[in-house]
Amino acid sequence: NVDTAVNFAKKQGRNNFQFYTEKLSDDMVRRLQIENGLRRALERGEMQVFYQAKIDLDSGDIVGCEALLRWFSKELGFVSPVEFIPVAEETGLIVPIGEWVLRESLRQLDTWMRAGLPPVRVGVNLSARQFREAELAGKITAILEETGVSAELLELELTESMLVENADEVIQSLWALKGLGITLSIDDFGTGYSSLSYLKRFPIDELKIDRSFVKDIPDSIDDMSITKAIISMARSLEMKLVAEGIETDEQWEFLRDNGCHVGQGYLFAKPLPTSEFFDLMERRRSANDDHGSENEG
Ligand code: C2E
Ligand code: MG
Ligand code: MG
Ligand code: MG
Repeated sequence: NVDTAVNFAKKQGRNNFQFYTEKLSDDMVRRLQIENGLRRALERGEMQVFYQAKIDLDSGDIVGCEALLRWFSKELGFVSPVEFIPVAEETGLIVPIGEWVLRESLRQLDTWMRAGLPPVRVGVNLSARQFREAELAGKITAILEETGVSAELLELELTESMLVENADEVIQSLWALKGLGITLSIDDFGTGYSSLSYLKRFPIDELKIDRSFVKDIPDSIDDMSITKAIISMARSLEMKLVAEGIETDEQWEFLRDNGCHVGQGYLFAKPLPTSEFFDLMERRRSANDDHGSENEG
């Protein structure tokens, strides 16, 4: 019986080991496929930028949008940015890809405005790797000039972790970007380790409350307290607030009633391909035009 037990354990151990190595090599294969795919994704036209509306929580107006990258790989199918952005960051491929997202979304904004849409600010996610590039402000200036879009219409979404190292250098880079007229926003706020008093040292215009705090409203009393605290402190520092991931009316009401200005989430609109986002904006505009003429009449 001892023998059987030992054999059993060995067998289990071997199976676990086999399972472990198979899992590991599957992950490694996938990671390599993504890396190789990413190297050619732009030239093969596999990347697209989708746009998600940002809504004024009081009026319901669209006050901006966020550019979100989508990769439709010929070999791998749709790959989520949650999976490929980290690989793009590790390999440095995020630098050309991120530059493409900036150029593409500003070019798109210019096209929309030429088609008669009111200007809205577009938020572009910036990765730590791009932020560390010495020539970032210069590159952005060049893209703004090339697309003819005013810097006031560009917002950069940064993460807390970018502010932690080399604070002095970071403050300099942020001032350089702000000097151009760009809006600076902290994405996923609350998931990192920075406090609001620490953030005060940086020229930040806006905080985006992470979806993890929003998703359990109104069930989680804790998350509601945290959210309220973030809102009231950010307001006292005169920062604008955006809540991510609003999916229900209760969440919308709670955030609005507690002083959050702007929201983003499936309740209002999912990230949409260019033409659908254009249609959404167009519909809103004609709804507003009707309103306007009613009031005038
Ligand atoms: P993020 O910047 O925090 O973007 C918000 C994410 O939440 C997006 O996921 C969006 O589709 C999702 N979302 C929005 N509303 C809702 C909602 O109501 N419910 C739920 N469940 N999700 C919602 P997505 O597009 O998959 O992007 C994931 C992350 O990938 C982004 O998080 C951002 O960190 C990164 N990312 C996306 N595009 C880019 C890019 O061009 N450059 C860089 N560096 N990162 C990007
Ligand atoms: Mg973002
Ligand atoms: Mg976010
Ligand atoms: Mg997030």
